[in-house]
Amino acid sequence: MPAKLIDGAAIAAEIRAEVAREAAALREAGVTPGLAAIIVGDNAASISYVSMKTKACAEAGIFSETFRLPATATQDEVIALVRQLNADPRFHAILPQLPLPPQVNELAVIDALDPAKDADGLHPVNLGKLLRGELDGAIPCTPHGVVELLLRTGNDPAGKHVVVVGRSTLVGRPLAVLLSNKARGGNATVTICHTATPDLAEHTRRADIVVVAAGRAGTLTKEMVKPGAVVIDVGVNRVDAPDRPSGYRLVGDATLDVREVASWVTPYTGGVGPMTVAMLLVNTVKAARRALEGRG
Ligand code: NAP
Repeated sequence: MPAKLIDGAAIAAEIRAEVAREAAALREAGVTPGLAAIIVGDNAASISYVSMKTKACAEAGIFSETFRLPATATQDEVIALVRQLNADPRFHAILPQLPLPPQVNELAVIDALDPAKDADGLHPVNLGKLLRGELDGAIPCTPHGVVELLLRTGNDPAGKHVVVVGRSTLVGRPLAVLLSNKARGGNATVTICHTATPDLAEHTRRADIVVVAAGRAGTLTKEMVKPGAVVIDVGVNRVDAPDRPSGYRLVGDATLDVREVASWVTPYTGGVGPMTVAMLLVNTVKAARRALEGRG
C-alpha cells in the first residue's frame, strides 16, 4: 500500500488557529504579541520566507514589522539593530532571517538577542534549556514542527527508533535532543547520522522513523527504508527542470519511491515547510505570554 502523505499545511493551519486563540487571549489581557523580522540584503528566498511569516502573523493576530538593512551592512550595524529591538516593548520575538551576508557572523548576531526574544530558539541559553529538558523557552522551529507532525499524525516517537540524518544546529541536533527528552514528543531512541557515517543505509533500514535533513536530493532512497517506517523529509533542494519557466523545481532529500515502502511520508511542498512558520508563531505567543506573566 502506498504511503499516506502527511498534510503539513493542514496541521500547520490547525496550530495557527490555536495560536490565533492564544493571541486573542493575550490581546484581551492587554498585550499584543509582536514579532520583528530582520532581513540583511536582497536574498530572494529570505524576502519570500519573511513575507510568508509576517502574513501568517497578521492572520493570527500577531503584530509584525520587517526591518531591512543593506547587503553591505556591517556586523556592528546588525547587532545595533538587534539591541534596539531587544529594548523595544512592541516586540516579544526577534527573527534575524538566515543566511546573513558573509561579513556578518551569524552566531554573533544570535548571541546578541535577548534570549527571551529569540524567535527561532537558537540562542545558546535556549539551546541549553532544550538540552536540560526545560521546554518553556523558544524551541527551534523546524525540529519542533517535525515533532508536532509526528504527534498529530498518531506517530508518537516514544519507544521508537528514530534516525536523524543531519547534525546541524538548526535542525538535526536540536531535533535529536527533542526526540530523546523525557517529555511529550520525546522518549525515542535516537541515532544521528552525518557525512562521516560510513554506511547510512545500515542505520536508516533499522529505523521506525527516518528524518532526513541533509540538504541533498537523493540522500534517502526506497532501499534504505524499512517497510512501514515513517519518513519526514526536511530537505529543500533545487534540481534542474528545463521544462519549467524558472528552470528548476524543488525536491526533498528523499526520492519519491520511498512512498512505495513507507507508511507515512511528507510531501516535497506542504510538509515540513508550513510547520516551521507555524512554530515561529508559537514561539512568539509563548514569549508574549512570558512577558505578560513577568517570566520574560
Ligand atoms: P546543513 O547545515 O547543511 O546540514 C546538513 C547536515 O546533513 C549536515 O550535518 C551534513 O553532515 C548532513 N549530510 C549532508 N549530506 C549527507 C549525506 N549524504 N549523508 C549523511 N548526512 C549528510 O543544513 P540544515 O540547515 O540542517 O538544513 C538541511 C535541509 O533542510 C536543507 O535542505 C534546508 O534547506 C532544509 N530546511 C528546511 C526547512 C523547512 O522549513 N522546510 C527548514 C530548515 C532547513 P556534516 O555535518 O557531516 O556535513
